[in-house]
Amino acid sequence: MTAARPRRTGILGGTFDPPHRAHLALAEAAHVALALERVLFIPAGDPWRKAGRAVSAAVDRLALVRAAVADLPWAEVSTIEVDRDGPTFTLDTVEALRAASPGDEWWFILGADALADLPRWREPVRLASLVRFAVARRGDEASAIVTADLRATVPGIEVRIDLVPMPLLDISATDIRARVRAGRSTASLLPDAVRAEIDARGMYRDT
Ligand code: ATP
Ligand code: MG
Repeated sequence: MTAARPRRTGILGGTFDPPHRAHLALAEAAHVALALERVLFIPAGDPWRKAGRAVSAAVDRLALVRAAVADLPWAEVSTIEVDRDGPTFTLDTVEALRAASPGDEWWFILGADALADLPRWREPVRLASLVRFAVARRGDEASAIVTADLRATVPGIEVRIDLVPMPLLDISATDIRARVRAGRSTASLLPDAVRAEIDARGMYRDT
């Protein structure tokens, strides 16, 4: 029996409603900067942090994510959250992934806006003991990536963070949904294959 070599694996969780070019840029930047062997794209099943708005069906978002990464040999799509009933918590996902691949090294990849929300996730201290965070700037954060709130909630979080260099990309799924609804172009914001799936599924046309 040979012991498997630990793999350096990134996890990119998101609602992916829809997945867009900044998601791919973020994943690729982390893949390169941290020498990650693979990046798992994990669409949320029941995105409890977005309970305020209707989220597209998981089956549709999953199809879009599959289309987005189809040409990327280092990227994989995991249905672990889509397959689970009820709200999904990153901590549960990470614990399940770690149990399935013991010995691997894990990074949770996220934008600074999502990192700032970490204090409101389930058991952030425990999560920070299980993964490192690969963080990219998202907006005009002249301020520090680590907020006072986060530092107070997860003492020592700074040493668990790897900054991912990437150009600021002013792209959001919220803006893309609005553009599709208004019939405006999304050509520079979405991979062609994702745009084709959105069209084929008739997504984002109303509400
Ligand atoms: P929405 O507008 O619906 O919130 P979104 O564009 O923020 O969608 P999410 O699925 O919420 O996309 O984001 C998944 C992850 O990707 C988060 O960690 C988020 O910070 C990161 N991310 C999304 N867009 C960018 C971007 N333009 N630059 C850096 N990181 C991003
Ligand atoms: Mg978001």
